[in-house]
Amino acid sequence: MNRKEYFGEFGGTYVPEDLKLALEDLSENFYKYIDDDDFKEELKFYQKEYIGRPSLLYYAEKLTEKIGGAKIYLKREDLNHTGSHKINNALGQILLAKRMGKKRIIAETGAGQHGVAAATVCAMFGMDCTVYMGEIDTKRQDLNVFRMKLLGAKVVPVTSGTKTLKDAVDAALQDYIENYEDTFYLIGSAVGPHPFPVMVREFQSIIGKEARKQILEKEDKLPDYIVACVGGGSNCIGLFHHFYEDKEVKMVGVEPAGKGIDTNEHAASITKGKPGIIHGFKSYTLSDEKGEPMPVYSIAAGLDYPAVGPEHAFYKESGRGEYRYATDKEALDAFLELSRVEGIIPALESSHAVAVGCKIAEKLDKDKIVLINLSGRGDKDVNQVRELMNL
Ligand SMILES: *Cc1c(COP(=O)(O)O)cnc(C)c1O
Repeated sequence: MNRKEYFGEFGGTYVPEDLKLALEDLSENFYKYIDDDDFKEELKFYQKEYIGRPSLLYYAEKLTEKIGGAKIYLKREDLNHTGSHKINNALGQILLAKRMGKKRIIAETGAGQHGVAAATVCAMFGMDCTVYMGEIDTKRQDLNVFRMKLLGAKVVPVTSGTKTLKDAVDAALQDYIENYEDTFYLIGSAVGPHPFPVMVREFQSIIGKEARKQILEKEDKLPDYIVACVGGGSNCIGLFHHFYEDKEVKMVGVEPAGKGIDTNEHAASITKGKPGIIHGFKSYTLSDEKGEPMPVYSIAAGLDYPAVGPEHAFYKESGRGEYRYATDKEALDAFLELSRVEGIIPALESSHAVAVGCKIAEKLDKDKIVLINLSGRGDKDVNQVRELMNL
């Protein structure tokens, strides 16, 4: 695999010298093992036997009929062990950590989804696991804190700054600087300094690799549109990667517009942000005049990050990717619609992609195809939705 630190002007390694050493060591090992047959075999084995891959590509016939336009297909990442795409990345990284002889895993988590995925693979491979989580998030998501503990992980509440995800990332990076000789930082999305964005994309690219093969088998042609939600951008880049060269396939990322992109309550980093540096990399960020990350908001806790992976920033600039957004209300409507019409309760994050995917399909002829990544299941969200609807 070619080494690539920058995507256009985005990406890079904007970190202190100490951390550079750790990242260089990580890069060396990542590029070595990602092309190693033995490593690839091991990854494939656990993808099948532990995660349950390949995930289904499902023709949503009822939803298609209801919308009345293009055929809608769903890539069912919600059916993976632990219920989302996050396990794809956690598995890949822990296998790499094992090869590198690391004994201790650290991770950051916002809503707790990535923390649970990290704790899961650590339990399975017998690794010591510490998860940094903003104190506010530990209270908001106490069930996920309990899940991580159940899986044997230590959860460290972070009390600095805004006590949320961005502070948890800072705490994890600090631990990594101090302990990288025996510690592996299992990052949760396609963000951070090089090589993290490339590494996470590589482990998530199984989504698009399978989807491309499956749609060719079922339809004998490629989709017209592929659609995924964008938080940090890992499920979306995982879907896009193997379609990149298929220029006729339009790639659409969907950002969380919260209560509206003209309010202060959204997390639409590409739509409303500007280029800047955050957490060691350059990308589109939502930041104030001083360059400090702004507080962000979405109905879907897994989407509220004040930046986006650097490869998406590049796709936006080059025009290869198109970035749209869905509001809380649109996501909630899609959540209810998919539950009712197909008997599939999607994650609120994924519901953003469903909302925009349906809008696109509506305007297309019946011989067109829209493929939507269903990044996770919505069981984790039913209490929140019940409260929102006053049920
Ligand atoms: C975390 C999460 C996301 C957002 O993360 P990305 O890195 O943007 O993919 C999306 N969907 C689900 C179900 C998640 O748990």
